[in-house]
Amino acid sequence: AANAADGSEDKEPGPLAGPNVMNIVVVASECAPFCKTGGLGDVVGALPKALARRGHRVMVVIPRYGEYAEARDLGVRRRYRVAGQDILKRMILFCKAAVEVPWYAPCGGAVYGDGNLVFIANDWHTALLPVYLKAYYRDNGLMQQQLFVIFKHQYVSLLFPGINLVLCKFQGRGPVDDFVNFDLPEHYIDHFKLYDPVGGDHSNVFAAGLKMADRVVTVSSGYMWELKTSEGGWGLHDIINQNDWKLHGIVNGIDMKEWNPAVDVHLHSDGYTNYTFETLDTGKRQCKAALQQQLGLQVRDDVPLIGFIGRLDHQKGVDIIADAIHWIAGQDVQLVLLGTGRPDLEDMLRRFEAEHKDKVRAWVGFSVPMAHRITAGSDILLMPSRFEPCGLNQLYAMAYGTVPVVHAVGGLRDTVAPFDPFADAGLGWTFDRAEANRMIDALGHCLNTYRNYKESWRGLQARGMAQDLSWDHAAELYEDVLVKAKYQW
Ligand code: ADP
Repeated sequence: AANAADGSEDKEPGPLAGPNVMNIVVVASECAPFCKTGGLGDVVGALPKALARRGHRVMVVIPRYGEYAEARDLGVRRRYRVAGQDILKRMILFCKAAVEVPWYAPCGGAVYGDGNLVFIANDWHTALLPVYLKAYYRDNGLMQQQLFVIFKHQYVSLLFPGINLVLCKFQGRGPVDDFVNFDLPEHYIDHFKLYDPVGGDHSNVFAAGLKMADRVVTVSSGYMWELKTSEGGWGLHDIINQNDWKLHGIVNGIDMKEWNPAVDVHLHSDGYTNYTFETLDTGKRQCKAALQQQLGLQVRDDVPLIGFIGRLDHQKGVDIIADAIHWIAGQDVQLVLLGTGRPDLEDMLRRFEAEHKDKVRAWVGFSVPMAHRITAGSDILLMPSRFEPCGLNQLYAMAYGTVPVVHAVGGLRDTVAPFDPFADAGLGWTFDRAEANRMIDALGHCLNTYRNYKESWRGLQARGMAQDLSWDHAAELYEDVLVKAKYQW
């Protein structure tokens, strides 16, 4: 399905005009509000609109998982040859189709064709896209000539190993024999082959994608740096280092219509309310009471309410909260956890609640309204992620006057400047190792400030809420990467 994301209803005149206006095709496995399992859905729901606001023509390509009310059938039908196991088959089909979209699927009434075209491919699911672009078009001189004559660079395929290289232990990994399914010239096999000390030679789609992409954007500079290390590169650090010149780190923005306490639609009912910095004392307080009420916690304004939202897996470090649960439960606090994922961790959350009925609530499930309400109603957001390419929840928290306590890693380190009580600066608390005692230390300082230093707390909220976290800023940085790539600066 091709969905026009031209942001028409809120489109202001774009500052960009002339030869730098691009036809951008964003390809991803999810896009909010149609389908979302995590941060990728948010990014793909918002970045295209921000690019359109800058004057570009933007199209989003996602698989059609269901019947979306807003979707319109374009009537375009194409057939592709696909083989391989289930997941590979889907990936191959999706990438083959996405590569052709600019020629077949009209956006805004016309097909893009090859004029000033840019593909932004997201994550491992789309890693074959830059490979097909090269094999099917560039290698056949197709785009090359125009490329050479009209622009120095007509195709910019981008790949952000953003949301993570791991979500995908898969990474498009498989036996070398997988290669026959890709429908590529034989010599391309070398781009896919990767040696792994455990599994020996294997085929790795992500590796090929990294090599073929013209530019690679990671969703924070901190994560970009980590990817180059043997600990953080998930076996791809050598390739990442060899392609170092392509890398850029751009922190995600947030969708100011979706995640803005002043207009958030999930705060319109059940006792919640919209608020701004000026109405924190009444509005945020009311949201906290509504959350306590909704979850059956004691309605008390003076008790610090700590939130956690995230996928329940090794990455998000919910087990680190488990190691600290007795300490937390020993404090005068309330803890609200929202997440889905590994069944053992889901059970663990339920156990927390059963054992600490007066203080802990676990919402096991995927609920967008609850995510918004917890963000608004909490005083503190806990993010003990072991690694975090960007992390969105800490950004949402700051926009809602909720103070983040995070493991200083990847995008969390980039976005949460540690509180400095002497300079009255900083945005939250960080801890330098993903371990319970470090987290307890940071959380302890945070609780002490919450209870005893109201002005410092207000300062933290004020600085968090005053930041420009909008996508408009991030979109400008993306545009800069694309324009420079086009002229090969
Ligand atoms: P990741 O993409 O690694 O999952 P991010 O912090 O970048 O992590 O983004 C997570 C996004 O998914 C946020 O919008 C968050 O609110 C949402 N989310 C995660 N778990 C849930 C859940 N159980 N219910 C609702 N939203 C969730």
